[in-house]
Amino acid sequence: MRIERVPIEVSTRAPTGRTAAYLVGGEDALLVDPAAPDSRLDADLDRVAGVAVTHHHADHVGGVRACAEAADATVWCRYGREAAFADATGIDPDRTFREGEGIPAGDGAVTVRETPGHAPEHVAFAADGDLLVGDLAVAEGSVVVGAPEGDVRSYLSSLRRVRAMAPDRLYPGHGPVVEDPRSVCERLLRHRLNREARVLAAVKAGNRAVTDILDAAYDKDLAGVRNLAGMTVRAHLDKLHGGRESGQQSRDRHPGCGVRQGPRRRPESGRNDRPGAPRQTAPRGPNRVGRLAGRPRRGRRGNPESVVPPEAAYKYRIGCFYGT
Ligand SMILES: [Zn+2]
Repeated sequence: MRIERVPIEVSTRAPTGRTAAYLVGGEDALLVDPAAPDSRLDADLDRVAGVAVTHHHADHVGGVRACAEAADATVWCRYGREAAFADATGIDPDRTFREGEGIPAGDGAVTVRETPGHAPEHVAFAADGDLLVGDLAVAEGSVVVGAPEGDVRSYLSSLRRVRAMAPDRLYPGHGPVVEDPRSVCERLLRHRLNREARVLAAVKAGNRAVTDILDAAYDKDLAGVRNLAGMTVRAHLDKLHGGRESGQQSRDRHPGCGVRQGPRRRPESGRNDRPGAPRQTAPRGPNRVGRLAGRPRRGRRGNPESVVPPEAAYKYRIGCFYGT
């Protein structure tokens, strides 16, 4: 399947300063991760039929609304994440997708593969033997997995899943195409587990405050990114405590640990992801029928259904950071 990579200048903490958007398929292409309006994308919008993103960080979604409206394209969103998607992009989705489903791309389709961890809604798109992986992986360095929305256990599972899929290449959101997916997945797995070992060692050495654990677990200069590294430490502590959902129970089972993590907010989650929750029906019919019918847009303000914790809001502003 034809995959074209379009690096876009965007405000991102990634060392490249760019996010790669991808055009998948020739005519009636699927546009993935349009990070910002861009003249190089504009030249191809007449052959774009759909728009989708790997996750909702600002440096991956900034061009979704402009590109979709200019191309009159179908806007796709992960099922159960519609409100968060609308908050992040400023546009309502037309259709939703789930794990294993296909999204039209040219003469074929990409297949959705859930890869949470960096962000809870994170997905990858399989295109024949290749995989568009967003911020799951990078050729060099690492990606942040920071609390409250990042989940280290999920991230490790996603890396192992992709390694087992054995794709030919990875097309990441930042940096060059990954030609050796297996070794890169294994390097990223080692990096996260090594960081976790440093965090655990810091706890066992008697550190109890996150700031103290941070100082003990990192050797490098964290000037300017200390908050982000702190989120990473919190995410590792969540995993060491048995996961965010059961954190209190785990603390009860391990009274000797007593690490102070401060007030915790649950990450935003799709309310309809709960087992037994009523199934939402994806919009049917012509593109954006709801908007054409006058349905009000969900904006960044005034949406009572969207509750983004302050820390997560900060994360959305900074997007994706490497090296934690
Ligand atoms: Zn990201």
